Amino acid sequence: MASSSSPLNRRTLLRGTLAAGVGVALGPVLLSGTASAYSWSRTLSQGMTGADVTELQIRVAGWATSSPGQTRVSIDGDFGPGTATAVRLFQSAYGLSSDAVVGPATQAQLNALQQSDGSTVHFDFSEFTDRVSGTFDGGKVSAATAKENVRRAMYKLEALRKKLGNVPITVNSGFRSISHNAAVGGASDSMHLYGTAADLDVPGVSNKTVYQKAETCGFSGLETWTEDHQHVDSRADLGRAWWWQDGTI
Ligand code: ZN
Repeated sequence: MASSSSPLNRRTLLRGTLAAGVGVALGPVLLSGTASAYSWSRTLSQGMTGADVTELQIRVAGWATSSPGQTRVSIDGDFGPGTATAVRLFQSAYGLSSDAVVGPATQAQLNALQQSDGSTVHFDFSEFTDRVSGTFDGGKVSAATAKENVRRAMYKLEALRKKLGNVPITVNSGFRSISHNAAVGGASDSMHLYGTAADLDVPGVSNKTVYQKAETCGFSGLETWTEDHQHVDSRADLGRAWWWQDGTI
């Protein structure tokens, strides 16, 4: 296959067009990625523990529940019932046997969602960096932690994107430095300062629909859908209480 027709290249071209169209200045290209596909070394199933289970949980966290509810996958390296539910929903969505057993086929699908720099196939780190500095510096956590939180958010956003019918999601704001957050009037302990929040615009889809789908993706922070964007975050992963401003709708 000619490289110019690869999905990645088409996506990159499209993204560039969109970015230019909305006047987004891409910051300096940053941060070395952690490289290559995850090396799954065993089949994973309920009852197992380990770092590979943690990685699995990060990747299926957006499939927390099939109907709106304040349910999330704990990122704790312990493959319990909540992880099993998420794996089943992930498998079903991607046409795999939904047996909650993470063998080679499921592992291949998980890795197919990953880019070589550790980002996911439909999102780039540059979409989430501070809009002023173009980096993950200056927040309430280290740049490395912020970037990892962004990576985790990306997998949830991949799930949200798929549930919305594979429509492109624009990230208006991801990570923010403390100074930039203050300048735009963000809350003093905004989840954007940790890299775990994203303000979304989904062309052609109402915020209310985005909110409702996000209620199945394990997002523990959802701002009202009546803003000009839809804010989502994973504050419970940081030990905070759930906050769904419009409740369950
Ligand atoms: Zn926000």
